[in-house]
Amino acid sequence: MNDPTRHADRIARAIAAMQHDGVDAMGLSVGADLPYLTGYRAVPLERLTMLVVRPQAAAALVVPELEAPRVVPDPAFRVVTWSETDDPIDIVAELLDGAHRVAIGAQTWSRFLLAIQRRMPGVEFTSADPIMRSLRIRKDPEELAALAAVAAAVDATMASLRDLRFSGTTEREMARIIADLLLASGHEEVDFTIVASGPNAASPHHEPGSRVMAPGDTIVVDIGGGMAGYRSDSTRTLCVGEPTSEVSAAYAALRRAQEAAIAAVRPGATAGAIDRAARTVIAEAGYGEAFIHRTGHGIGLETHEAPYIVEGSDTALEPGMTFSIEPGIYMAGRWGMRLEDIVVVTADGVERLNRSDRVLYVVE
Ligand code: ZN
Ligand code: ZN
Repeated sequence: MNDPTRHADRIARAIAAMQHDGVDAMGLSVGADLPYLTGYRAVPLERLTMLVVRPQAAAALVVPELEAPRVVPDPAFRVVTWSETDDPIDIVAELLDGAHRVAIGAQTWSRFLLAIQRRMPGVEFTSADPIMRSLRIRKDPEELAALAAVAAAVDATMASLRDLRFSGTTEREMARIIADLLLASGHEEVDFTIVASGPNAASPHHEPGSRVMAPGDTIVVDIGGGMAGYRSDSTRTLCVGEPTSEVSAAYAALRRAQEAAIAAVRPGATAGAIDRAARTVIAEAGYGEAFIHRTGHGIGLETHEAPYIVEGSDTALEPGMTFSIEPGIYMAGRWGMRLEDIVVVTADGVERLNRSDRVLYVVE
């Protein structure tokens, strides 16, 4: 799973995309673009880290001297360290010298970008997002293997939820137990553990709190973490005791909506059409107003990245794209439900990366 030329190949593709866009230099700071091209994930600090990519020169990773031991050497780029008494803006400006149009990574702190801009009057600055998105939106086989592995780990965590006792436990306690399960299943990092019960389940990004769960609650459990840099993200809905007929019927519609959306995924279909496939089923069941978010988002080195599966998007799906399909129904003040799996677009259709049971989990 370690292609020694991976980063050199990606930097070469980035340069081709830069040239296509008329960009003659690119600077990437913290965020996922940097590990994508170098394998190095920078800690977001007041000390500047920046990869400078130019067509005619070796890529240069400018890092604080004290962070340099964390950089794994790679012939794809050279490492330029700066000490506490150096001005890293001088170093970056020197590396960018002569460029007319410079693309800057979207997650670069404004304090650094403003300083670079002051140092280089007359240079046009633009976003590196279109360049990096064009590379990262389609995953290579190594990335797909990493996403499948982390999806299997979150599936194992989901499967173990049925053995837990929710009744009498607070959301926050359960979130902590699930975080431990994510780590035990092989995740190296826990990104989020949403446990939203009863009326709280109607809030899609609810922060687990002190509410004690009780019979009759529906509970949305949306969890994810990282393994080898790649992210998991999956949601199941639980019910403490047997669900009411209203909840059962709504859940059946939710499941049909997810099936319809996944069945619509294939190369050439638009992201908007996938959203519509899910939304139509939920609207026909009478819950159109209660599906208050987009159907999904891309996933890779970041939990949320392109492509976004949203109404009106004309982004055409291509093999290697990976994203969530996560329809939800939210009845304010009463209950909520969501069902989320990650899928990958294949040469002729779709493959699911999450395989845990999709029924409404009945728990104690
Ligand atoms: Zn999620
Ligand atoms: Zn998601």
